[in-house]
Amino acid sequence: MGSFCGVRPTLCVASGHAQPNGLIFQALENRAEWVTLRAVKPTEQDLLIFDGATGTNLQRLNLPASVWEGKEGCNELLNVTAPEAIQDLHRSFLDAGAQVLETNTFGASRIVLAEYGLENRVAEINAAAVANARAAIAGRPDRWVCGSLGPGTKLPSLGHIEPEKLAIAYREQIIALVEAGVDLLILETCQDLFQIKLGLIACFETLEKLGREIPVLVSVTVERTGTMLVGSDIAAAAVTVEPFPVFAFGLNCATGPTDMTSHIHWLQHNWPRRISVMPNQGLPEIVNGQTAYRLTPNEFARQMKPFVAECGVSIVGGCCGTTPEHIRALTESLRGIKPAARSLET
Ligand SMILES: [Zn+2]
Repeated sequence: MGSFCGVRPTLCVASGHAQPNGLIFQALENRAEWVTLRAVKPTEQDLLIFDGATGTNLQRLNLPASVWEGKEGCNELLNVTAPEAIQDLHRSFLDAGAQVLETNTFGASRIVLAEYGLENRVAEINAAAVANARAAIAGRPDRWVCGSLGPGTKLPSLGHIEPEKLAIAYREQIIALVEAGVDLLILETCQDLFQIKLGLIACFETLEKLGREIPVLVSVTVERTGTMLVGSDIAAAAVTVEPFPVFAFGLNCATGPTDMTSHIHWLQHNWPRRISVMPNQGLPEIVNGQTAYRLTPNEFARQMKPFVAECGVSIVGGCCGTTPEHIRALTESLRGIKPAARSLET
């Protein structure tokens, strides 16, 4: 176990910067058309706007019982059984100004799908999710698809799952997303540093094997207590992620924007690469036994703006509760604004 997470990151970091070999050239040649179509890269954008929530918006649709095929709660199955609903949701975020769509694959790893008896449909479900996002984009320029990798329901630090099993599940889902043609990958809602290492090793090893270079983002979830679920703070998470050639690091979920302020200030002065922020629609409240989110679109946008304009955050979006209207207000409030320059503490 120790050698697994101790040795492999070094290999991965090295491989992340390796010179292209014959295999990669071969892969590029085969994908000449693909490369031309995506001449503008998401990594070249000063500010990248992601979409908002998937789960809470799907809940609001009150889809007919038939689409669940008896697997109520498995949002990822809807990629196959209700593709129009997923594509409509994606389109509503694009219309609101989102440049990056996250695939509806947060729980599409073998481990989570096994809870619904769907563990043998990983490739199919992930491919359908990417196809739905691509169909919603429908050739609009400068719009990208980001493969979402959730934390699953079992944390390795707490002994819920053997590390190798988690790594295998990550690899399988990453292969499915990459082969289906995602432009970026995000490991999101991370709550466990060991899980982050396993996920990142799986990402960079898999990309190397496939001969692909795709920007990888990592986003951690910091509870209102100021730490992740297993007790680590933002500095510990940043130190864990820093050796990997990730494109961006940041926060999502758990709280609204304001509760993230101190962590973002820390990243502003200490994290050397791009920062992402995708909060919930405020702190969740329980109303009549249901989870409710209260922040209005304008208030969400008002709280987010200084992160970009003053702290240099350059990737924004929304998590639980955030609707297309929240992304529309965010997009409008950031029009013409460039992420502030940052100076790192040495
Ligand atoms: Zn969330």
